[in-house]
Order: sequence, then structure tokens, then C-alpha cells
Amino acid sequence: MRRKLVAGNWKMHGSLAQNKALLDGILAGVASLGAMDCAVCVPFPYLAQAQSLLQGSPLALGAQNMSQHEKGAFTGEVSAAMLLDFGCKYAIVGHSERRAMFGDDDATVAAKYVAAQKAGLTPILCVGETLQERETNVTEQVVARQLDAVIQLAGVESLKRAVVAYEPVWAIGTGKTASPDQAQAVHAFIRGKIAALDKGVAESLVIQYGGSVKGANAAELFSMPDIDGGLIGGAALDANEFLTIGRAAA
Ligand code: PEP
Repeated sequence: MRRKLVAGNWKMHGSLAQNKALLDGILAGVASLGAMDCAVCVPFPYLAQAQSLLQGSPLALGAQNMSQHEKGAFTGEVSAAMLLDFGCKYAIVGHSERRAMFGDDDATVAAKYVAAQKAGLTPILCVGETLQERETNVTEQVVARQLDAVIQLAGVESLKRAVVAYEPVWAIGTGKTASPDQAQAVHAFIRGKIAALDKGVAESLVIQYGGSVKGANAAELFSMPDIDGGLIGGAALDANEFLTIGRAAA
């Protein structure tokens, strides 16, 4: 039985005061979450603040991106080892916003995934199709290509130490959620593709859904057999919404 994971992706939102209010609100309700895993992926400058506020709590910390390089002359970049220094457990790699706007292609995402694991972080590998790709019926090819880039570089067993997030690009930040059946179909495809290589890895792999998940739709999405929680953008900025989503994963 897989334990579901709900992770907030704050994106480029927050301030010291807003983060404190949000984390205090989540921590006040964290005991009500039950048997599930929960994390927040905060902007780099707030990792130290979040690390200190989350000390001793079951809420894990993550980053939204990282460098594929270990160290060196990479101005503006942040390494996996730096994230570990601030208590991160997770690093999101390959979020569609980074793929679309910051040049993170499949090879770069795979390199970041490997660098995260090498340092001891758990990568949350995002995959997903654009609206045009869905409408031209290439969703499975796109998701397979994104997964293959990682499997070819790191091997299928590496997925034992990773999380996959299926995030249809057309559902991110748009208010358009994939229906539970639409999401389940792609999750089942992902698990089936991995099962063809290694059944045990596929069975234990946590596959999150992301794309306009809210308190109102989380329970239905998370009730699907291959949906193991969610990667949450907008709704992760509201403590009560985030806690409602978390409770739906228990
Ligand atoms: C995301 O940023 O990963 C995401 C799923 O955003 P939203 O929940 O706002 O659609």
C-alpha cells in the first residue's frame, strides 16, 4: 500500500510575514492529517525560515528547482548539497514552468534528477502534456519521452528513490482540473510503462497528480487507484485549503 504525498509548490510567492502565517496555519492543523506524507516546496531565499519553523514537525521541506551541477562557476544557481544544508528532503525537477520558460529540456531535467539523488534528495519529477499535445493525441508519447530521458540516464531502479508528478500543462494554474478518469488513465499508463521494466518499482512508486487541485476536488482525484496524492500550486498558499487537500490523502 503506497502512502500518499501532498506537496505544496509555492512558486514565486511569499514574504517572511506571509510564510510565517501560512506555515503556522498548516502546522496548527498538521495533527489532523492522518497517515499521509506532506511537504512544502518554498522559494530558495525562504528555505532557512521554513526549516526553522518546521523543526520537529512532520511537514517536510522541498525546493522547486536545483542545479544539475555539484558546484562551480554557475552564477545564480543552487546545488543539491545546498538544499540538503537547509533540511530539504525533496526537489521538484522538470516543472512545466521551467520546461517552458527556463530551457529545462528532457536532458537537463534528467541531469537534475540524477544530481538530486546523488546528493540524497528525493526528486519530484514532473511530466505532462500541453493542451495541443492532448488534442493531437500524443499525451502518452510525451509522458513516455519525459520518463525515458530519466530512465535511460538513471535506470528504472532509481524510481525507488523518486516521486513522479503527472501535471497536464493545460490544468496548471488554469482552474481546469483533469477529470479523475482523465488523470487516472495517464497515471495507469505511467505505472504500466514502468511495470513493463520492473513490477516492484512500479507498485511502490508514488505518482502525484497536479493541476488545479483544490479542497473541493482532491478527495475524488485521490480516490483513483493510481493517484497517490498531489502537487499543489495555488491552493497550497491557503492553509485551510492545503489541510483539506492533505486530509483527502489520508
Ligand atoms: C503546480 O504548480 O505544480 C500546480 C499544479 O499548480 P496549480 O495547483 O495552481 O494548478
